[in-house]
Amino acid sequence: MNYSDFLISIIIPMKNESAGVEILFSRLEPILDSLAKTGGKWEIICVNDGSNDNTLEILRAKSLVNPRVKVLSLSRNFGKEAALTAGLEYAKGDVVVPLDADLQDPPELIPEMVSQWKNGFKVVLATRKTRNESWMKRKSAGAFYNIMGRFSTVRIPKNTGDFRLIDRQVVEAVKLLPERTRFMKGLFAWAGFKTTTIYFDRPARFAGTTNWNYWKLWKFALDGIFSFSTFPLKIWTYIGVIISLISFLYGSFLIIRTLLYGSDVPGYASLMTVILFLGGIQLISLGIIGEYIGRIYRETKHRPLYVIEEKIGF
Ligand code: UDP
Ligand code: MG
Repeated sequence: MNYSDFLISIIIPMKNESAGVEILFSRLEPILDSLAKTGGKWEIICVNDGSNDNTLEILRAKSLVNPRVKVLSLSRNFGKEAALTAGLEYAKGDVVVPLDADLQDPPELIPEMVSQWKNGFKVVLATRKTRNESWMKRKSAGAFYNIMGRFSTVRIPKNTGDFRLIDRQVVEAVKLLPERTRFMKGLFAWAGFKTTTIYFDRPARFAGTTNWNYWKLWKFALDGIFSFSTFPLKIWTYIGVIISLISFLYGSFLIIRTLLYGSDVPGYASLMTVILFLGGIQLISLGIIGEYIGRIYRETKHRPLYVIEEKIGF
């Protein structure tokens, strides 16, 4: 690899980010220009993910002034993961950095990432030392990473969003993955490659409002768990075995007791308990099986992940 002549692609998914775009560019462009002094050419790929404010118009103007700014505009809101996938598809860079538009991923880290890449790392993660977020969000994120760490076959780095530098080789590996459920940080982690981490304090959102609420985050966490672990399916085997064992012991006890002392009619309470308990367990396990079947169904339809309405600057 020729480290003194490379192209860096910044991918920015954007949904309703008009309030922050100017500031974002005023901080990002000088940094990329300073990289250019050491041989790096750059491009910025903004993916307009169905914004209903004037994000697209601002981006169009940006692209006119500077042809290194390119815009993919999706036909509707497909979600951040799909937007990122679209950006990866069109990025030409030898290295690629996905970036949030709200400056929660400080672009000032990019030169440090590039120098780690020049040290031979194919993936440079930017991990949050602190989270400038509510107690609830920190706790739920912590629980999520714990569960993922325990059950997933792929090591998903803690407290790390999509903000990272990835080498072209990694991009090509991720592009090979055909799945519809794009849990990007899982897919990036799946690819592997020589990885290092730099740490930063994550600031609060600069402008605009978050596009995530707890329900969306919950669904996103489920995407992560269900697409990177089959443990929720397997656990029922163990629970089933344990319950059968207990039932067998209890059944034997009942039979022996009946043989010794004759039958007694009462038993309504224990019957109800067992029926309700087992009914609940069966519904949960059916639900989990349904979750996987739903995902299989979605995958088999082979729908495209996104539809591009307009390409600007390509
Ligand atoms: N985003 C997107 N499509 C969506 C939701 C979000 O492209 O449906 C973008 C958003 O514009 C931002 C990034 O994804 O650049 C992260 O979103 P946000 O800041 O709302 O997430 P948070 O930081 O609160 O997790
Ligand atoms: Mg944000």
